[in-house]
Amino acid sequence: MATSEAIETALRDAAAERARLVRLDDDAITVTVDVAGVKASDHDAIEQAVRGAVEPLRGERKLRIALTAERSKPRLIAVGSGKGGVGKSTLAANLAVALARRGRSAGLVDADIYGPSVPTLLGREGVKPEAENQKLHPVDSDYGVPFLSMGQLVDAGQAVAWRGPMAGKALTQLIDAHWQAKELVVDLPPGTGDIQLSMVQSHKPAAAVIVSTPQDLALIDATRAITFFDKAGVPVIGLVENMAGYVCPHCGELSDPFGSGGAEAAAKALDLPFLGRVPLDIAIRTASDAGIPPAAGDSVQGRAFLSIADKVIDWMEGHGHAA
Ligand code: ADP
Repeated sequence: MATSEAIETALRDAAAERARLVRLDDDAITVTVDVAGVKASDHDAIEQAVRGAVEPLRGERKLRIALTAERSKPRLIAVGSGKGGVGKSTLAANLAVALARRGRSAGLVDADIYGPSVPTLLGREGVKPEAENQKLHPVDSDYGVPFLSMGQLVDAGQAVAWRGPMAGKALTQLIDAHWQAKELVVDLPPGTGDIQLSMVQSHKPAAAVIVSTPQDLALIDATRAITFFDKAGVPVIGLVENMAGYVCPHCGELSDPFGSGGAEAAAKALDLPFLGRVPLDIAIRTASDAGIPPAAGDSVQGRAFLSIADKVIDWMEGHGHAA
């Protein structure tokens, strides 16, 4: 008779982590398959794959397969900034990619109504999500990070005119989707407007990460965003300094067009962890425009994002959010 180990191995090969052997009796094998987030039209195929895998090991035993859709809501990590253009979307996308590379089950929600750029950053411009039971299915990317974006709901430019309730509804569509990911990085619009309010009122994030450039003005705005999350009772994991130090593509010399170390000093003054520094580097912009997140590779730029993700993971593990 086949051992439970042999059956578990066959299940893993057939349905990744979805199928579980829950009982092995003398006369029956009972398997559950978690189909949370899987389209109904694909359920049969998954069940057949599981059946096919166990069939050779079944012997005289009956095979019972139960499809389940238990799903806990993903936890949300908001990425915010005081103002636009500081690289918040770039950081959000690369953080999600880096989390996935570290084995976390991560997805990305692009809630930036002013400039939804995640489809571009993940190389999936123009791809529309499918809906089932009035809920969206996230779109896959090549980087292990499924995503949904405001840019997929409306044409460019339209969302900017939305008033609070419309924006809140759109946010809910993106968050209450058929997610399988366990944690969602949410790229918020800059500042502290309607979307941020809906976010903390209806979909309270587990934590927030704030991005700033090193200039004083950007840091003053970032402080406002930090205060906003503080007041809403959302813990701020820390501050990221983006566009710090310019690496000349010709001579490799490092200069500081926007100053440097400002965010680290501000984090210290605010008693917040400093999560790391991402240099101002043309390679980041060209890769981002080409839909290849630097965090997917092993360049110096990619490592900066991975190191920030490691600090975020440390925080989550320290706060009961294991992988
Ligand atoms: P935000 O979401 O804060 O508005 P983005 O992430 O869209 O900012 O970045 C704005 C622009 O700056 C984009 O063209 C992006 O590619 C570029 N950018 C962001 N971070 C860097 C960086 N560290 N080095 C070079 N270019 C960057």
